Amino acid sequence: MSPLLESYAAGRWFQAEDAGQPLLDAVTGQEVARVSTTGLDYAAMVAHGREVGGPAVRKLTFHERALLLKEVALHLGQFKDEFYALSFRTGATKRDSFVDIDGGIGTMFSYASKGRRELPNDTVVLDGGTEPLSRNGTFVGQHLYTSRTGVAVQINAFNFPVWGMLEKLAPAFLAGLPSIVKPASQTSYLTEAVVRRIIESGILPEGSLQLISGSAGDLLDQLGEQDSVDFTGSASTADILRKHPAVLERGVRLGVEADSLNCSILGLDVTPEDPEFELFIKGVVAEMTVKAGQKCTAIRRAIVPQALTSAVIEALSARLAKTVVGDPADESVRMGALASLGQREEVRKAITELRRGADVVFGDPDHVETVGADAQAGAFLSPVLLKAHDGASEPHDVEPFGPVSTVFSYRTTEEAIALAARGKGSLAASLVTHDPRIAREVTLGLAPWHGRVLVLDRDDAGESTGHGSPLPVLVHGGPGRAGGGEELGGIRGVLHHMQRTAIQGSPDMITAITGRWTTGSRREVGEVHPFRKSLAELKIGDGISSKPRTVTLADIDHFAEFTGDTFYAHTDPEAAAANPLFGGIVAHGYLVVSLAAGLFVEPNPGPVLANFGVDNLRFLTPVKAGDSIAVELTVKQITPRNSADYGEVRWDAVVKNQDGENVATYDVLTLVAKEQALSAG
Ligand code: NDP
Repeated sequence: MSPLLESYAAGRWFQAEDAGQPLLDAVTGQEVARVSTTGLDYAAMVAHGREVGGPAVRKLTFHERALLLKEVALHLGQFKDEFYALSFRTGATKRDSFVDIDGGIGTMFSYASKGRRELPNDTVVLDGGTEPLSRNGTFVGQHLYTSRTGVAVQINAFNFPVWGMLEKLAPAFLAGLPSIVKPASQTSYLTEAVVRRIIESGILPEGSLQLISGSAGDLLDQLGEQDSVDFTGSASTADILRKHPAVLERGVRLGVEADSLNCSILGLDVTPEDPEFELFIKGVVAEMTVKAGQKCTAIRRAIVPQALTSAVIEALSARLAKTVVGDPADESVRMGALASLGQREEVRKAITELRRGADVVFGDPDHVETVGADAQAGAFLSPVLLKAHDGASEPHDVEPFGPVSTVFSYRTTEEAIALAARGKGSLAASLVTHDPRIAREVTLGLAPWHGRVLVLDRDDAGESTGHGSPLPVLVHGGPGRAGGGEELGGIRGVLHHMQRTAIQGSPDMITAITGRWTTGSRREVGEVHPFRKSLAELKIGDGISSKPRTVTLADIDHFAEFTGDTFYAHTDPEAAAANPLFGGIVAHGYLVVSLAAGLFVEPNPGPVLANFGVDNLRFLTPVKAGDSIAVELTVKQITPRNSADYGEVRWDAVVKNQDGENVATYDVLTLVAKEQALSAG
């Protein structure tokens, strides 16, 4: 008998008490493994996640979590051969497996890098700046995100056993949540292999990753207010979850990615001779055949100008005819098997329904030639292309989760947009056009109904990632029927797991709570210039208040001549006087900032290693000859870098004039040595 897959629950590998259900090889029909959760204690898993995993992850800063994700990604990279071998058994070709396995590991790397670049080395994320709430500035507001204290349950579909798990695990872990992963049973042997490698590496804190191999049992009954479920799969299962008391009564957050009838539109500007025509054909065929069309983002509807419909069908059919179907491990094969015989039956049923509103123009749902595999034993299916009847609804409603697509004709751009919207909300759409006017009109028409829109033409085709590729940095999810989920999208995918709270209080309290200096809170101006302090010695609120300096006309003339910035407002008294904002010669904004640097700098070698930029620079009041300026510089935020001898210090800079008016405000960004011994001084 084949092995019984195990779950990883409450700190140990669990094997069910019964023999379990067989999982069959999609290509040969032979048993690969068995699966069962009989006897699994779901309540103990949830408790373990909340009590052991969550606290361990939340102790780490975002940067520390990101570094662990990177370690996991590097570790998994060593076992790709093992994963690819199992992946063939799901029916996937090498190209399909690349999307799943390398795509999943790549997503981990992407979050590891974003986490360190875009999140603070802290456990809270500030959302925007401080909101002034009172006349005297003693009462302010600040939004911040904290990690929720529950578990992140991830229920995944069968089609991407690796990427499907990692795309959800990475942002949840970065957000500080422990994950309970439940892959679809059909391909769970591959997910189990990956989880086993992660667990045995010991990289992630215990309890931050648990695995259910088999059914979800009473897992949802165990969930409460701080927990979430992110689901990918069929609309019917999504409906069951939406109506579950955990969601309806206990406020469990549910994210759904379900059926999606994605479309690709060929622009009205395109002729068969244009390169865009070929790009459209290639795109549709790729989406029909990669993963044998079992992709949530695959093109189910090809929407083309009426005049080109025949040409499109002819070109698609010619290309589809060249698709070699068979053993995914055979190098000549372009399309492998569906995930199971059951899944093939589902797709055949869907085609029967589609035929009420469309005609098959290519392929036979009941017959396919295969290379290197038994067409009967494996879940093989020919690509099938249909042409929709005018006004038909079935091709907008029925999702055939296989190598199936339907061609629609349209006459006007408005009609193309209306046809796309009949999908009732999709993950991804593409528009193939070289006309910027059409690009704007169609894209803005598609956007409210889609999570992502690709505009493809000869200029971006060479480097385009294609219609069907979700990217970790861009939103993956879609409105309406597609479920409303947003798993990815860079840091958006992380914040999705966190709670945003508005904090109100005095500036000092907001500084203490957020770890970022807030305007109006206490400053510490001491004997030692803060540029002489190492990262270890600097404290939030340390600052200097400079002496004033008078800005003279000679300064302004000199700066203009020296830099070549002879803009009339700095050099031509008459023209400057006519300027309604200035009414006379004013100092260059960059002169003010340069003089401010001269006022706050401590010039000797010391722990400050470099200035790497300024943020949020605003010139607020013009500086005229004879005005005097002074600067207040305050340590706003300190971010040690985990893998370096230095960290980042963000300084709040305010330049004021003799009347106390703010002339310029900005943040100065510097790199500061962690220890005095490492500094240049
Ligand atoms: P399902 O909805 O049947 O299953 C998805 C996941 O939900 C699986 O892990 C499944 O576990 C689990 N599940 C099923 N019932 C429950 C329940 N009552 N409570 C908790 N979890 C449950 O989808 P499939 O993966 O089988 O795919 C079926 C169809 O879904 C496809 O044919 C396609 O139409 C659509 N689909 C859409 C996708 C999209 O993003 N657009 C992606 C993938 C699929 P188990 O496997 O153990 O039953």
